[in-house]
Amino acid sequence: RAKLSTTQHYWFFNQKLQDELVHEHQMVERLQQALRLGELQLFYQPQVSAVSGRVEQVEALLRWFPREGGVVSPAEFIPVAERSQLIERIGDWVIEEACRQRAEWKAEGLSDYRIDINLSGRQVAHPELFTRLEAALERHGLEPEDIGIELTENVLIKANTGLLDNLRRLYHRGMKIAIDDFGTGYSSLSYLKLFPVTSLKVDRSFVHDAPDQPSDRAIMAAAVFIGHQLGLEVVAEGVENEEQLELVRDLGCDLVQGYYCFKPMAAEDTRRLLGALVLDGDGLTN
Ligand code: C2E
Ligand code: MG
Ligand code: MG
Ligand code: MG
Repeated sequence: RAKLSTTQHYWFFNQKLQDELVHEHQMVERLQQALRLGELQLFYQPQVSAVSGRVEQVEALLRWFPREGGVVSPAEFIPVAERSQLIERIGDWVIEEACRQRAEWKAEGLSDYRIDINLSGRQVAHPELFTRLEAALERHGLEPEDIGIELTENVLIKANTGLLDNLRRLYHRGMKIAIDDFGTGYSSLSYLKLFPVTSLKVDRSFVHDAPDQPSDRAIMAAAVFIGHQLGLEVVAEGVENEEQLELVRDLGCDLVQGYYCFKPMAAEDTRRLLGALVLDGDGLTN
């Protein structure tokens, strides 16, 4: 009996693994098709000055709108793409699309708003990242200040010399480099001295719990302190209500990003918003 249940167990896990592999394979094929059919879009979420309430820049967030309808979150398909070669093609598409959009908005007089893009580990470690970004900027007549990049702490842990080289070259060209989801990875603070970065984005889990949890407040205060000591800008992610906004402001965060200020929006809605801000000569004050 014992033996039988063991084999059943084995079969069960095997079957599950196989189902997952099939699902993953189908997802990769659907994503390849999505690229061909133009089903990917960039949405944009503004980052607002914690002090003045002005919109300073926007983060580009990938969305997949399959023909069948609905929308697939990047949290679902980016990890799959990262396990295949596909992330490089998707990443190149994101770079190209963000540059194209930035150039279009600049031509319309919306020159102040940098677009920050998220880069995956594979992309940042790729020996050609620097050259590809440079080429994309040049193709669209952009400056290095027009586009920023975000990478997570976990990407830094797996850093090779290629990654460090890319970051150094981008930094020296004047590109903004943010550490995303700061505080949730397994990196140590010494990474801040090793890697050239310009801002820290404190993960939204701390922002979410800060009003009720002294430990989350303490971690946020420490992140702001060390960030400022190192001359970095500190961004609070995922601000969802007034209480969190006031708290991150009091803690000294420079910028806020979250549903309470703006949700990620389609390009056209973003353009309307930025256009209205330029006419007003000021940002939104909540
Ligand atoms: P992220 O870079 O940390 O982006 C912030 C995420 O938080 C976004 O989720 C955004 O929609 C969400 N968010 C913003 N404000 C709030 C809020 O107030 N409350 C809550 N609960 N969430 C908020 P999204 O768009 O689903 O993206 C998830 C992740 O997927 C991103 O996290 C990023 O790591 C990755 N991603 C998105 N676009 C790209 C891309 O173009 N390339 C790569 N490699 N990764 C991407
Ligand atoms: Mg990000
Ligand atoms: Mg983040
Ligand atoms: Mg995140």
